[in-house]
Amino acid sequence: MYLKKYTEILRRLKNNPIINPTDEDMARMCPHLTKEEVVNAFRNGIFGAFDSTYVACPSLRVRGAFQIVCFEKANGNQPAKLRWAFTGRIGYGPEYPHTAEALKFAEDNWGKHLIDNTWLEVAEVRIMDPTDLVYGELYPGGVPKTVMTVIAVMNKRSEKMSFDHSRPRNELFDETIIEMSVDPLISEELKSGRGPYTYYFCGFCGSGFEPSYCSGCDNGFEGGYFEDRASRMALPPKLVEFARQNGHIFRKDPKIALEKELKGFRENKYYYWRK
Ligand SMILES: [Zn+2]
Repeated sequence: MYLKKYTEILRRLKNNPIINPTDEDMARMCPHLTKEEVVNAFRNGIFGAFDSTYVACPSLRVRGAFQIVCFEKANGNQPAKLRWAFTGRIGYGPEYPHTAEALKFAEDNWGKHLIDNTWLEVAEVRIMDPTDLVYGELYPGGVPKTVMTVIAVMNKRSEKMSFDHSRPRNELFDETIIEMSVDPLISEELKSGRGPYTYYFCGFCGSGFEPSYCSGCDNGFEGGYFEDRASRMALPPKLVEFARQNGHIFRKDPKIALEKELKGFRENKYYYWRK
């Protein structure tokens, strides 16, 4: 089985759990096991909380990670269900049945596409549209809608970057990026159980936000949401490129935001990037 096909199968399961799954449905999710092993693990395994059994399945991108599929027994008027559960990695959290086979299968079949987990920090980059506001209990005045979420993993810690005044912040950020993804399954593997730092950028122009407006495109929204999060770091070039490759269109060239950051850095390199 090839990586692309398996990714599709798993993605479909994540979006749509299978109701009353057959043995064949179960086997399809577990190319690393024989049909007997799969059926035995799901139907005769140890049922834990929520009357569920779990099986570790091959990872898509990160060596040492595994995807976890869950079978829920029928319960009252709830039918039996096969669904994607979450992502794990060896040495972190509990082990799941058939982890060793899942790791081996990924290595044997698409090992050349796997990357080692060497990063020190995970960034969740939200690209938001200040011309399209969403409203909620915590932000009745509306906040820019998130139009793309990129998970980026970095080989340097952000504290370290904040002490480095040799170059504009977006350059430092840019060169520490090892890998990026917008795929929810791969994003989970990249996060590998670590809580990411969240960064917010304007999807109109690539600037960071001021508390109640974007200084790059002058689109405003009710203050509050970005009060503690405002940043003058512009969207780093690798992320600009990656967002474009994934279909995002900036209505104003993000180069302008990068130039503005550079100017701020030249004027006051110690504090320009943070309010
Ligand atoms: Zn903007």
